[in-house]
Amino acid sequence: MNDILPEVTTTWQYLEGIVRDLVQSYGYSEIRLPLLEQTDLFKRSIGEVTDIVEKEMYTFKDRGGESLTLRPEATAGMVRAGITNGLLYNQRQKLWTSGPMFRREKPQRGRYRQFHQVDVEAIGYEGPDVDAEIIIMSSRLWQQTGISRISLEINTLGVPSARVKYRETLVEYFSSVKNQLDQDSIRRLEHNPLRILDSKNPEMASIVESAPVMLDFLDTESAEHFEALQALLDAAEIGYTVNPRLVRGLDYYNRTVFEWVTDALGSQGAVCAGGRYDGLVEKLGGRATPAVGWAMGFERFVDLYEACGGKAPVQEADVYFVAVGEGVLQQAFTLAEGLRDQLAGVRIDVNLGGGSFKTQMKRADKSNAEYALILGETEIAEQRIGLKALRSAEDQISVAWNELAATLADRLGPAK
Ligand code: ATP
Ligand code: MG
Repeated sequence: MNDILPEVTTTWQYLEGIVRDLVQSYGYSEIRLPLLEQTDLFKRSIGEVTDIVEKEMYTFKDRGGESLTLRPEATAGMVRAGITNGLLYNQRQKLWTSGPMFRREKPQRGRYRQFHQVDVEAIGYEGPDVDAEIIIMSSRLWQQTGISRISLEINTLGVPSARVKYRETLVEYFSSVKNQLDQDSIRRLEHNPLRILDSKNPEMASIVESAPVMLDFLDTESAEHFEALQALLDAAEIGYTVNPRLVRGLDYYNRTVFEWVTDALGSQGAVCAGGRYDGLVEKLGGRATPAVGWAMGFERFVDLYEACGGKAPVQEADVYFVAVGEGVLQQAFTLAEGLRDQLAGVRIDVNLGGGSFKTQMKRADKSNAEYALILGETEIAEQRIGLKALRSAEDQISVAWNELAATLADRLGPAK
C-alpha cells in the first residue's frame, strides 16, 4: 500500500481531471461508493473459485460479528448500489466511479495491495453499440494523454448455455494433460475450467495455447453481437486483435470481454479491462438487466503516461510574498486575499514564520515561484509593493497596490 507523495499527486490530479471530463462528456454520472461491503456480495458476484475471493480479499468480522470485505473491485458495489437505491428499476444508468481497491496480492511493480481504479458501467444497455462506445471512450483517453504503446484485445464468451458444451470440451482437453497442470489449474479444472485460460504461470502457456476456443462453440446471437461490435470498432478506426483465449479474472462476464494491454510496463501489462455482465444484476437480487463496463488501473495508467513521455504541467508557487517588519504580515495577508479574489488560478505563498529579508528571499527562491512580492514598512507607508522576478533578469519594480493584480496578471501571462 503506497503513500502517494506530493511530487506524484500533481500528475494524478492532472490525469484525474482529464478522465473526469472525458467520461462526463459521454454522459456518465459519478457515483461514490463505500469501501466496505458485506463479504457475501463479492463471493456471489466475483465467484468463489477466483483468485480474488480465494486468496486476495481483506475480510474481517466487525464488532457485530458481520463479515465485511474491503472492496477488491467496483462493479459489485455499483450494482448493489443500483439495486438498493432503485436506480435500475425501469431505467438505464451510465455511471462512473473511482477510488482505492484492495487485494492481498504479491506486491511488485504495477501490482499493489491498495491500488486505484476508474470504473465505468453502463447498466440497462444490451446492444453491441454500448460495448463499442465504452471502448471508443477508452481509446479517446489514450489519444488525449498521448499514450501510444497500447493495444486492444477482444473476445466473446457467449452466453452461459453455450458455455456448457465448451466447458465440457475444455475439461476433456485439460484432463488429458492433467499431469502437466499446476496446482491452481487442477483445482480450477473441477470448479471453473475457463479460468485455467487466465493462468499467469508461464509454464501453463503452451497448454493454454492449444486449448479449444470458445469461438467454435458460440451461440448465433453472441456471434452476431461480436460481429456487430467489430464492425463498429472498424468504422471508428480502432485497431484490435481477437484473442480467443482472453477470459477475465472474474466470473460474471458473458459475451464481450476486452483488455487494453501495453508492453511498456513489464509483466503488469493490463491497463484497462472490461466486458459485459448481463447476469449480474439479477444474480444480486435485481430484475434481469444487461450491463457492460470497464475498469482502468490508475497506477498503471500514470506509469504508462510517463513511459510514453507524458508530463503533467507543473504546479509551483507563482508568487512568494515576502513580508518584513513590524505589523507587515497583517497587510500582506490583506493584499494576498485581494489577489486571490482577483486572480483565479494564481498560487500565492505568503511567507510564514517570519525571518529576516535574506531568509525570506531564500525561501522565495526555493519555492520555485516566478516572482517575489516584497512588502516592508516603507512600502506600506507609500501603499506600494516591490515586484521582483526570481527566474529572469527583469528589473525589480515598485507597483501601487491598486495596480498590483493587473500587473501580475500581465506578467504571469494568459495561462494563469
Ligand atoms: P491482472 O491480470 O493484472 O491481475 P486483473 O484481471 O486482476 O488484472 P481487473 O480485476 O480486471 O484486473 O482490474 C482492472 C484493472 O485494474 C487491471 O487491468 C489493472 O490495470 C488494475 N489492477 C488490477 N489489480 C491490480 C493491482 N493489484 N495493482 C494495481 N493495479 C491493478
Ligand atoms: Mg489480478
